[in-house]
Amino acid sequence: MSTLTSTEARVVDTGQTTWTPKHETFTKPVRKLWDVHNPMEGSALDQYNGATRALLQLVRGAQAQGVRMRALGGGWSFTEAPHTDGWMVNTKWLNLYFNNVTALVHPAYVGDRAGLRFAQCGCSVLQLNASLRAEGRSLRTVGASNGQTIAGAMSTGTHGAAVDVGAIPDYVVGLHLVVGPNRHVWLERASRPVMADAFAGRLNAELVRDDELFGAALVSFGSFGVIHGVMIETDPVFLLRMFRRRMPLDAGLRHALNTLDFSRVQLPHATERPYHFQVVVNPYSLANGVHVTTMYREPFHAGYPPPSDAFGGFGPGDDALSFVGTFT
Ligand SMILES: Cc1cc2nc3c(=O)[nH]c(=O)nc-3n(C[C@H](O)[C@H](O)[C@H](O)COP(=O)(O)OP(=O)(O)OC[C@H]3O[C@@H](n4cnc5c(N)ncnc54)[C@H](O)[C@@H]3O)c2cc1C
Repeated sequence: MSTLTSTEARVVDTGQTTWTPKHETFTKPVRKLWDVHNPMEGSALDQYNGATRALLQLVRGAQAQGVRMRALGGGWSFTEAPHTDGWMVNTKWLNLYFNNVTALVHPAYVGDRAGLRFAQCGCSVLQLNASLRAEGRSLRTVGASNGQTIAGAMSTGTHGAAVDVGAIPDYVVGLHLVVGPNRHVWLERASRPVMADAFAGRLNAELVRDDELFGAALVSFGSFGVIHGVMIETDPVFLLRMFRRRMPLDAGLRHALNTLDFSRVQLPHATERPYHFQVVVNPYSLANGVHVTTMYREPFHAGYPPPSDAFGGFGPGDDALSFVGTFT
């Protein structure tokens, strides 16, 4: 499979016969590893639809060869989640981003129309953070690092760090899935339609509104076809005021950990529910207490003090996985 014209997607056989994830936790055999690139010409929508055709073509090819096929995101999973010994499809180059979908929102949509964004599967968390920041918007929650793709992080139910907001799947409200050699669908919840029927039409996709299917596809570890694009809800950009303290692991703190009821523990803001709450416990060294990180969400304002080195060089976002990410 290769380039037809610059209005068609480019599908490149990398020639690889083994695959190693980004953080080199193992190496496994693979029949083929394909890179998929968007077409070079046409509108963003034309390019996106060209990539859909390429993904369908790949499914047809895999079916003809009798091999399994699985999408690869950023390859940041430490586990074998993205691996198959058949065909792996690298989606990282598929990173179109649409911030202009308001005109095609369903009349019954109850959320903030201005906050909807449509991201092609390979958009990284880094890219989304940068694009949204420039628009005065933000993802609702993220994890400690940002090399993951939106589809990969969503498919594994990762990247949530807030008390009352779940991980990435919680703010994904629509999915464009390539589910067979000739079939691709725009999938939303029936109970919460988001995009007008015309949106599926723009993608040339079959429209499916079904709560159970949507829930099943949302965190599906690459087993529900190739997720080509996702619709996400975003928030206005915000600030987090962070505190990190040692505290005794007493009854009040245990109660907060078990119930997320903070009324029996003394946190920095006495009456305000934290946006983020994290406790690191070393069971072999409890005498000095445990590390409690709380963050409070505030409206964005210019001139805020940036995170400092007050924690001996460590600040928001630092943890063991960030450390691994920095050195690999
Ligand atoms: C340094 C580091 C820091 C991390 N920090 C955090 C953190 O703070 N919080 C947290 O929750 N997690 C964290 N993780 C875990 C990481 O977010 C997950 O492993 C995530 O799944 C990686 O996303 P990815 O895009 O690399 O997906 P991959 O690892 O490439 O794939 C993950 C799964 O998604 C599937 N998939 C990917 N793309 C598609 C697609 N387009 N269509 C269908 N299926 C697809 C794959 O088949 C696979 O099953 C961290 C990992 C590392 C290495």
